[in-house]
Amino acid sequence: MSEAVDAVVIGAGVVGLACAYELSRRLDSVVVIEREIGPGREMSSRNSGVIHAGIYYPNDSLKTRLCIEGKQRLYEWCENHEVPHKRTGKLIVATSAGDEERLHAIARHAREVGAGELRLMSGKEAGEQEPELRCELALHSPTSGVVDVHELITSLAREIKEADGAIVYHTTVEEIRKSSDGWVVQTTDTMGSRMELHARRVVNSAGLSALELVAKSGLPESERPWRLYPCKGSYFALGAGAPPTRNSLIYPLPAGGGLGVHITADISGARRAGPDAEFVDTIDYAVDESRAERFAQAVARYLPAIRPEHLTPDYSGIRPKLVGPGGGFADFVIANPSSQPGMVHLIGIESPGLTACLAIGAHVSDVIG
Ligand SMILES: Cc1cc2nc3c(=O)[nH]c(=O)nc-3n(C[C@H](O)[C@H](O)[C@H](O)COP(=O)(O)OP(=O)(O)OC[C@H]3O[C@@H](n4cnc5c(N)ncnc54)[C@H](O)[C@@H]3O)c2cc1C
Repeated sequence: MSEAVDAVVIGAGVVGLACAYELSRRLDSVVVIEREIGPGREMSSRNSGVIHAGIYYPNDSLKTRLCIEGKQRLYEWCENHEVPHKRTGKLIVATSAGDEERLHAIARHAREVGAGELRLMSGKEAGEQEPELRCELALHSPTSGVVDVHELITSLAREIKEADGAIVYHTTVEEIRKSSDGWVVQTTDTMGSRMELHARRVVNSAGLSALELVAKSGLPESERPWRLYPCKGSYFALGAGAPPTRNSLIYPLPAGGGLGVHITADISGARRAGPDAEFVDTIDYAVDESRAERFAQAVARYLPAIRPEHLTPDYSGIRPKLVGPGGGFADFVIANPSSQPGMVHLIGIESPGLTACLAIGAHVSDVIG
C-alpha cells in the first residue's frame, strides 16, 4: 500500500504526539507511526510526571527555553482539556553546609533564566512546614507541579484525530529514503503488511531509537556526531509506615547525571522515591529490589526516618542521554540538517521533555510546518 501525506511523525510518545498536534493544525494530512499497541508506552509513561519550572539548565539552552515555555503551555493545555494536574510546588533541599552554596547558586541561576517565582527558606522554616524533613536550606518553586501523563497522552491523541490526523499503532518504521519531492517512509505492521508513506515532512521522534532512524534516513556519518547512552532510572513506591510528607515534590541537589533520588506524589497522591541513574547496555525495565537499601540511604539524607522496608519496587524508565557517565550537560538536539529538507530529528529528549513537549511541538512545526 502506498499513500501521499503532508507529514509523518515517527513515535507516539508525548513529544511525537505534540509535534503531530501542532503540524495537524497547519497541514491537511498528518500520520503518526507507532510500533507499540498504543501511545506513550516507552519513556512517556515511565517518568516522574513532574512539570518542571526550568531551574537547572544553562542560560542559552533549548532545555531552559523549551521547559519554561512548555510549562506555561502545558498548564494551559491541562486547563483547556481537562487533564488532571496540580501546581503542587517543589522543595529542593541542601542537607549539608557544603550543599548550601550550591543551592544558593541554583537559586541565582534559576532567577536569571526566569524559571518563575522562587523562595529560599532556612532549614528551620522548611522543617516547620515538613516535620520529617532535615535540611540546612530549601528552595521552594511554586510553579512546579504534577500532571496525569496518561490523560495528557489521551488528550493529545484525541486532538490529533479531531484535526483529521491519524495514529497508526503496531507499525514499525523500517526505512526512510529520499524521493524527488520529499521522503518515503516504509513501514511494516505486526501482520507483516508493508506500507509506503510519501511525505514532504518527517519528524523522527523515536526516543531511545531516534539514532537508528537517523542512520536509516541516510544522513552521512560526518553529519551525525551523536551517540546515545541509555541511563535507567528506577522507582520504589513508598508504602505504609513511610514517614509522612506534606509537599508533593521533595528533591535533593542534582547528582550523577540525574536530579537526585527525589520523592514525588502523583496526581492520585501515591508517593514514590526515584529515579536513580544507572547507565545500561540493554533495555530491561525490571526494578532490582536489592536497590531498596541504597534508595533508603539516598532519601534518608533529607528524610531520616525512611527505611528500606518502606520501599517496594515499582517501575523504571530509560533516558536517552547524549553523554555517558560524568559527561556533564547535553542539550536537546533538534536537528534539521541542510542536506535533509523537511526532516527533523529529535535526539536526547530526556527530562524535561514531558514538560517541554508542547513547546517542542510548536518549535518543530515552525521549522518544517
Ligand atoms: C526516569 C525518567 C524520569 C523522567 N521524569 C520527567 C519528569 O518528571 N518531567 C519531565 O518533564 N520529563 C521527565 N522525563 C523525560 C520525559 O519522560 C521524556 O522527555 C518524554 O517522555 C520523551 O517523549 P518522546 O515522545 O520523545 O519519547 P517516547 O515516549 O519514548 O516515545 C518514542 C516512541 O517512538 C516509538 N518508536 C521508536 N522507534 C520506532 C519505529 N522504528 N517505528 C515506530 N515507532 C517507533 C516508541 O515505541 C515510542 O513510543 C523523564 C524521563 C525518564 C526516563
